[in-house]
Amino acid sequence: MKFKFWGTRGSIATPGENTVKYGGNTTCLEVITNDDEIIILDAGTGIHALAPDILQYMPIKAHILITHTHWDHIQGLPFFTPIYIPGNSIDIYGGKDIVTGEGIKRALNVQHQYSFFPIPVGHLKAKVAYHDVNEGIKFTVAGATITPIILSHPVINFGYRVDYNGKSLFFTGDYEQQCNIYEPEEPEYAEFQQIIDASIEALVDVIQGVDALIVDSSFTEEEYLLKKGWGHGSYDAAIELAQKAKVKHLFLTHHEPTRTDADLDKIYEDLLSNNPDLEFELHIAQEKKEIIL
Ligand SMILES: [Zn+2]
Ligand SMILES: [Zn+2]
Repeated sequence: MKFKFWGTRGSIATPGENTVKYGGNTTCLEVITNDDEIIILDAGTGIHALAPDILQYMPIKAHILITHTHWDHIQGLPFFTPIYIPGNSIDIYGGKDIVTGEGIKRALNVQHQYSFFPIPVGHLKAKVAYHDVNEGIKFTVAGATITPIILSHPVINFGYRVDYNGKSLFFTGDYEQQCNIYEPEEPEYAEFQQIIDASIEALVDVIQGVDALIVDSSFTEEEYLLKKGWGHGSYDAAIELAQKAKVKHLFLTHHEPTRTDADLDKIYEDLLSNNPDLEFELHIAQEKKEIIL
């Protein structure tokens, strides 16, 4: 199994001279099995650059797994040219929105509404199908087994484990480890903490031993203290999760929009020197970089 980052940036695309190395496109990850079909995790602006790369393999059969519907994870989909080409087959997977009770189809159709985009969904020429994803219910795409698990973020958000031919990866989408809303001296604190601990254990169980763990690591610890509850994780939290789950490689992604290449290089050096005994390989996710597992 191989995978390639097409978008590593969080929240908003950040093209420019300061993001050449790690990339400015928002979240998108291509997973390649030996099957003729392709798996894409999230459809941020990175999916626009991915499209020409796969047009040589027409007709395209793509499975797009959406972690959640915040703009930076879906905004590239109307610009994913294979959806306009007859003969292609695009399957899109995602959770049901808690507020509307509707599936991923509604969220994506909204992007094609007259007010937001010139081409209505009726003009999509590929065969597009939508699928609901449910917590813990595995399914198979492109020969790979997908395990979805709901992760803490301010909207329904699925992390996906992908298993293929003895290799595995897990992608969080956006994720902030849940915080205890009570103070330790309050009577509700202990019970709430038990719920949090159980959810972390459930996550660790799912990602246990994966070859590649790809985690939302938007913030430094100092930044995180000011942005608790915004739905994103810190570098240290990602490292702690990777240690617990005994993964082989950890990729830090969803780079904060103001973060420059030089910032990320410095953060990487600091993380290595602060954590000299890591039992996994640490990486900063880099756009256009392909990893073979
Ligand atoms: Zn995001
Ligand atoms: Zn989000």
